[in-house]
Amino acid sequence: MAKKIGKTKVDSSRWSIATRAIHSGEPRRKYADSLMTPIVQTSTFTFKDSKHIENYTKKGMEHFEYGRYGNPTAQIAERRLADLEGAEDCVVFTSGMSAITTTILTLVRSGDHIVITDDSYKKTLEFCKSYLKQFGIGCTIVPFGDYWVLERAIRKNTRLIFSESPTNPYLNIFDLVKLKKIAKKHNVLTLIDSTFATPFNQRPLEFGIDLVLQSATKYLGGHNDILAGAVLGKEKLVERIRDLHKSMGGLIDPHCCYLLLRGLKTFPLRVERQNETALKVAEFLEGHPRVKKVYYPFLKSHRHYKVAIEQMTGGGGVVTFEMKGTLGDAKRFLDALKLCYIGPSLGGVETLITHPALVSYYDYTRKQRYKLGITDTLFRLAVGIEDVGDLIDDLAQALRK
Ligand SMILES: *Cc1c(COP(=O)(O)O)cnc(C)c1O
Repeated sequence: MAKKIGKTKVDSSRWSIATRAIHSGEPRRKYADSLMTPIVQTSTFTFKDSKHIENYTKKGMEHFEYGRYGNPTAQIAERRLADLEGAEDCVVFTSGMSAITTTILTLVRSGDHIVITDDSYKKTLEFCKSYLKQFGIGCTIVPFGDYWVLERAIRKNTRLIFSESPTNPYLNIFDLVKLKKIAKKHNVLTLIDSTFATPFNQRPLEFGIDLVLQSATKYLGGHNDILAGAVLGKEKLVERIRDLHKSMGGLIDPHCCYLLLRGLKTFPLRVERQNETALKVAEFLEGHPRVKKVYYPFLKSHRHYKVAIEQMTGGGGVVTFEMKGTLGDAKRFLDALKLCYIGPSLGGVETLITHPALVSYYDYTRKQRYKLGITDTLFRLAVGIEDVGDLIDDLAQALRK
């Protein structure tokens, strides 16, 4: 059992996102007049006396009881994220995947069916394709961007549509207005994994999307030092997910929540910079003779440019591009990089580059990879907050190799 803890947070309604990221979701005066959010490192909380117990159990008084049911530091992280996303409520998780799987498991039961788009995160797809089947839950994977096929995939027992926007690695943009229209007509829930956009660039709830999922490991934490996730939306829906989460038990610890809160303070600053840098890098690559194609939602050449500029503030920090040449050329380019680190993930202050064919899809055959559009010379560059000139210099010297 755990009661909802009261609304002692500061009023952030007049603030812009930069201010909210620093101050929202917590009381102005904190323990010992600390400026920073205290890390409440405890597994259990005590009652003063028997009256306190009764006030809690019978009268719904605010109180934390046991760490798996809630923690004050985690609660502040949830409130801040909810405030940034414009959500009524939020639950934080130990990872983005924990948020995604717990959310889906809350919403479906045996005999139900879900629809998911084909360029969703690899592990999300795997979970839907293989694990949900064990519980008798059907799953139709539809090609991204084909709204006709998407609508046709909806059955009587379809409970939800899950998609990402932007997607990985091609940064396709889902038209949220169209999605909502279809979902409303058939009375199904809509879930958007908005990790690549963050609430700085896109707030799907404003388009009527039911639930937003975030891997806070990426831009929200922003320093490549934590794993965390979140689900955000209407309180009634989120409360059900929170209940299952308490039973599943993989709760995030308060120290991690502190790091998330610290990361969040600079998140609008970082993402604004990453938007600018990524666009400049994308333009540089697009004009480079050794580059075949660049995918960036805020480039006019991107196939979803119009939707992107309509529903997003910025194109985000990821640029995907295909080099000319062979797998050997791709390896030579990677090996010549001096500033960009080779590694998966995105959203941190350090620039990372990944070669999906060698990393995420190493276990696929070349034919399977190409079917998914993962070619030998495809790269995903996740820009950090380094100087854009230094980044372009590094890419330019490596492309010369
Ligand atoms: C990283 C990522 C996830 C998974 O998040 P974790 O925090 O690594 O569990 C899910 N969706 C997208 C789009 C991601 O980039």
